[in-house]
Amino acid sequence: MQQLDQAYINGNFVALKGNEVIDIVSPVTERIIAKATLGNREDAKSAIFAAHKAQPAMAKTTKTERIEMLMQLREAVLAEHLRIRDATIEEYGGPVARAQWVSQYASQCFANAAQILKDYPFSSKAGSATVVMEPVGVAALIAPWNSTAGTLCSKLAYAIAAGCTSVIKPSELSPLQTRVVTEALHQAALPDGIFNVLIGRGTDVGDEICTNPAIAKISFTGSTQTGKLVAQSGINTMKRVSLALSGKSAAIVLEDADLPSAISMALNSAFLNNGQACVSGSRLLVPRKKLELVISIVKTLVGAMQVGAPHLATTIVGPLASLAQYNRVQHFISRGMEQGATLITGGLGKPKGLQTGYFVKPTVFSDVQNHMDIAREEIFGPVLSILTYDTEEDAIALANDSDFGLQAYLFSSQPEKAARLAERLVAGTVLINRITPDLLAPFGGVKQSGIGREFGVLGLESYLEPKTIVLE
Ligand code: NAD
Repeated sequence: MQQLDQAYINGNFVALKGNEVIDIVSPVTERIIAKATLGNREDAKSAIFAAHKAQPAMAKTTKTERIEMLMQLREAVLAEHLRIRDATIEEYGGPVARAQWVSQYASQCFANAAQILKDYPFSSKAGSATVVMEPVGVAALIAPWNSTAGTLCSKLAYAIAAGCTSVIKPSELSPLQTRVVTEALHQAALPDGIFNVLIGRGTDVGDEICTNPAIAKISFTGSTQTGKLVAQSGINTMKRVSLALSGKSAAIVLEDADLPSAISMALNSAFLNNGQACVSGSRLLVPRKKLELVISIVKTLVGAMQVGAPHLATTIVGPLASLAQYNRVQHFISRGMEQGATLITGGLGKPKGLQTGYFVKPTVFSDVQNHMDIAREEIFGPVLSILTYDTEEDAIALANDSDFGLQAYLFSSQPEKAARLAERLVAGTVLINRITPDLLAPFGGVKQSGIGREFGVLGLESYLEPKTIVLE
């Protein structure tokens, strides 16, 4: 059995001082597949020290040198994309198509950051002043379990583009993926200390990096609840904080949409990553007069979806990542039924023939009212709520009546009209007739979905600090 008991500090894999050992359990077999040691506060301090020592030299690197580093990282991660894919499938049950996408995206984000960096002017004029954009300093990159390779690599890419060294803290629930990704990053042979990686609990490693004065910036992706703690911990040392948080995205099908294609995309978005995606379109808003037709399409499409082993190419919905996730989803399905929503497919318990593993039935409710828990809270599983509207005004109001505002989807046969409606949706991103993002554009949320943007120019600037120089 694999033992994972090292951190990556100052260019080397080193033994951890922490001594808490956790089991990594396969979501398919429920058997222990690896044991991982968690770092402690001392380990975090060593990682921060290494990043802090490397920061002055990193800040002085030229654009060309940083682009070179990014392209080395891209090659190194690309070379290992199959191992990254397999670890994603094995550790949290990511279905193969999704795991494949994430592993390739992990390498692509270095190329994207290089492209943004190439054209970015670090100096500009404002009145008589010159404004110089400088690296903010050492960045703490904190990642959730549901997108380990993608989050690690995209955050690291933009930190490097800006000239920042980093301390990366992936989730304690993804040590296998972390190890594989870190081994790939190591192959890029960057100067020591530019990035340092350790797994640990939020309460010690997380807290140390959020309070240590040597950290200048926190780029956090995770739940809204933890994001608030991170922001509070960081404020005493005035850290710059970006928060990419939870979502409850609305997918609006307009009356003129091609229903089979719109519903198919909406379901793929709702069940993306087994429903464990921040951008999951978990509220489907449809015209009341089309509800019956929508329900019949949903039943057909969900009925044809393969639920099963994540490594099979035919699987659309794999297991949830953990027993805790399984229980969470069961709780929300019960709440939906208790609060009066109509179950149209799926429901409580495991699918037939899948009694071992954290498998759930892809579940869809109709007659959902926007005040119900299943419409308001992020479930983080394959559970879709269908709500109805009478007019486009109602649709916009319903979509915006949410604590969250990460991503929204619009489906229509009149894209220009949909683009006008998009202006009225309160969300960081609106996708029209598609469910895949543009990775060169800024990404982030409004309201309880976060603060700040990642990717693109704004993503780069989130690791920069402007300095104004005014000459007499
Ligand atoms: P989480 O908030 O439980 O944990 C995220 C990270 O924070 C982990 O590495 C964890 O160890 C760390 N952490 C916990 N307590 C901390 C503390 N006090 N100080 C510092 N770090 C601490 O989230 P999760 O369950 O791992 O991930 C799922 C959540 O992430 C969902 O809500 C999902 O919507 C969100 N998410 C958002 C995006 C986005 O881009 N908006 C992307 C992926 C996931």
